[in-house]
Amino acid sequence: MTYSKASKGTVYLVGAGPGDPGLLTLRGKDLIQNCDTLVYDYLVHPVVLNFPGKDCERIYVGKKAGNHSKSQEAIQALLLEKANEGKCVVRLKGGDPYLFGRGSEEAFFLKENGIAFEVVPGITAAIGAAAYSGTPLTQRNASSTLVMVTGHEDPEKPETMVDWDNLPHANTTLCVYMGVSRLDAIVERLQKAGYADSIPVACVEWATLGRQRVCRGDLGTIIMIANDFGLKAPAIIIIGENAGMGDQLSWFESKPLQGRRLVVTRSQGQASELSEQLELLGAEVIGLPLISIEKNVDKQTAADIFAEIATYDWLVFSSPNGVRFFFETFFEKFDDIRSLGFLRIAAVGKSTAKEIKKFYVTTDLIPDEANASSLADALVATDSLDSAKVLLISGNLGRDILTKKLEEARAIVDRFEVYKTEATELAENPTAKLFREQGADAILFTSSSGVKSFVDQAKDLILEADAVRPKSISIGPITSASMVQQGMPMNFQAKEASLESLVETVVENFGKTE
Ligand code: SAH
Repeated sequence: MTYSKASKGTVYLVGAGPGDPGLLTLRGKDLIQNCDTLVYDYLVHPVVLNFPGKDCERIYVGKKAGNHSKSQEAIQALLLEKANEGKCVVRLKGGDPYLFGRGSEEAFFLKENGIAFEVVPGITAAIGAAAYSGTPLTQRNASSTLVMVTGHEDPEKPETMVDWDNLPHANTTLCVYMGVSRLDAIVERLQKAGYADSIPVACVEWATLGRQRVCRGDLGTIIMIANDFGLKAPAIIIIGENAGMGDQLSWFESKPLQGRRLVVTRSQGQASELSEQLELLGAEVIGLPLISIEKNVDKQTAADIFAEIATYDWLVFSSPNGVRFFFETFFEKFDDIRSLGFLRIAAVGKSTAKEIKKFYVTTDLIPDEANASSLADALVATDSLDSAKVLLISGNLGRDILTKKLEEARAIVDRFEVYKTEATELAENPTAKLFREQGADAILFTSSSGVKSFVDQAKDLILEADAVRPKSISIGPITSASMVQQGMPMNFQAKEASLESLVETVVENFGKTE
């Protein structure tokens, strides 16, 4: 079986891919979402670290050059300890675990210690860099040999394992990993071995991520070019005829928001349509999970309500989360949708109705405007509320206005809280950490509650000295007013209060002009 669930007491060596979270395998994602312990490296994207549930223990063991936070022995001992505790452990490694990642050492160690392990391959950095920089690694008539080589060892030292003198020359593409700090020595060594100065070179920094940069030259010029460019690790150095294609096949860098880092505030675990749209335009999006929304159902209340579920006349939903958590709870008790009885269903707006549709249930009433007050008015206008039983599905912050208006129309209203909203812990959160360290070009606010949560949690979002100071962008007048009220700058406001208009505003002000 290749696609089985995660097992307890097993260590999964998972390749995280080169950076872009979309390049993680399905198997990898599935395991990350279901593991008890996640042991991860420096280059793993923070978005991926937010895949597991809140109970998953995340342990950073990264090795940024010169800053070893845990020795290899300590990492292995940790894997052993967690597996012996019966945990399902994911050991997440950048790129592919068996390519310059010491994955094999970990696998041997686990085997010696009788721990079950599995390996999930990942897209290695060179493959990612090639695709996202427009540098095919092989090409008929130009390159038919591919060499992946580590630049980590000092090529001048006799003990180097790499046979620099005998690497193939003709029709070959060389991909050098970990080569940035030794670029001079590598170039010199290749020249000595007979590589021509005219061989093209492309260096791809932070490949596949919004912040990807590429510099190009040839063996004779690349040291100077990389110096001026300020090339830094992590980068893949591609050497060979195909590296000389320039930007003919580039697609990633020509996206309007490529190279821009944008912050979107959202609730934890919630897929954001806005983030997706911005990423499609090439931006690096940091989703700051300011609030978490969790299922929270009182067992007794659920039992009471379900005992008489068939006696309700209206079932009213005021958010997509309410729909999701209500049906989840409902199907824990019943296994047939007909147990709902003959009630009618109302939703506050289109997204809520869309969520209801996922359960093959049609919504009978949606107000013109998506807010609690309009929903109440629309229900009253049906003239069906006198002595009617209404079941209102809500979170802990549900608005009382709905209950009040329905009761005024003589309905009997039961409120059923199915989830709760809370501030998330940002101090240790990987995305918040990324924001503090690097800042962003802009922060996008889409609601007053987002502004408020941001201000409430500002102490965990203080930027480090050399981080980029972001501009603030608002979706519309109500959000802007909240920003001003909270003492925040408001640099740009979308023309119309819609996601499309917000994205347009971002492109207008932060997009590439050429
Ligand atoms: N197992 C990894 C390689 C780890 S060695 C893999 O298969 O990709 C670390 C080196 O990988 C870095 O020094 C750099 O050369 C390369 N690397 C990793 N991620 C990269 C990225 N996003 N862009 C460019 N190079 C990257």
